[in-house]
Amino acid sequence: MADMNDILNSFFGGGMQGGGMAQRGRRARDETVAIPASLEDLYAGKVLQIPYHKTTACNSCQGTGSKVKRPRGYTCTACRGSGRRMVVQQMGMMIQQMQVVCDACSGSGESIPDSEKCGVCRGRKTAEVDAPLTVTVEKGMAHGQEIRLRGAGSLNTSMGTMGDVVAVVQQSKHDTFVRKDCDLFMTLSLTLAEALCGFQTKITHLSGRTLIVRKNRGEVTKPGDVQCIKGEGMPLFGKNGKFGDLIIEFHVTYPDRLDDNHVEVLRQALPSGPNTPSSGAGETYYVSKEDMSVLQREVEKAEEVEDEERGSAGGCQAQ
Ligand SMILES: [Zn+2]
Ligand SMILES: [Zn+2]
Repeated sequence: MADMNDILNSFFGGGMQGGGMAQRGRRARDETVAIPASLEDLYAGKVLQIPYHKTTACNSCQGTGSKVKRPRGYTCTACRGSGRRMVVQQMGMMIQQMQVVCDACSGSGESIPDSEKCGVCRGRKTAEVDAPLTVTVEKGMAHGQEIRLRGAGSLNTSMGTMGDVVAVVQQSKHDTFVRKDCDLFMTLSLTLAEALCGFQTKITHLSGRTLIVRKNRGEVTKPGDVQCIKGEGMPLFGKNGKFGDLIIEFHVTYPDRLDDNHVEVLRQALPSGPNTPSSGAGETYYVSKEDMSVLQREVEKAEEVEDEERGSAGGCQAQ
């Protein structure tokens, strides 16, 4: 492999000039690459290998484009190396002088004779190579966070510099946890019996550990209740040893129907309210949506009759 400076020199025809601001101003454009990362990766941190394809200096000619070992300068004779040519154009009575890109060298200021062109790159000086990126995803990194890989990008032949690659973290969806900043959220479904009598269940945490969530016998969980487990959220980026919280929201699944004898048992066990129907006695109303609208119409009709009666007696008018 040739010395990098030699390769760069060959692009510049005489070495990199300047530095500092001038150099930065001429930097190659960044390339952006999405880095898919699971919540587990972002929890523990991981080194990921991402397939990547880029343009680099041709290895065969060491970026000179020539098969000659020590090529002399290939200054384009048409433009004398400037890459531009002056053309004279006549427009009616006027004669205009214009500068155009040299067509002999496509503006590069250099032209390698076919007989001396590198057999591999055919004088282009560059090669397309597979160059997998190694990206270190750190603990607690966020979706959309950028990781700059300096000089990992393609060679910019006109600038003679290697571009940067900006790796952007793409957090994938998780089956159990939803991340909000440094906190993790999850829902846990309980049966009605578990909600009323207590339960014990296991959660596989992002760290791989098993967390046990329990409510003791007799502790009641209501639908929508939340439990916060301190320090079991995501690690805080750049703050070693600090973590967010894990917030569990409980859902309770109710049975569709209960057997008669279960109703009796439950009624005895649970506190009764003022609306408890006495079994068998009186009329039974099942209040469904249809029943409600029928009831509503009946009530409205009764009110209309009342209004008419009052209206004829000179009551207050809405209009
Ligand atoms: Zn070559
Ligand atoms: Zn030229």
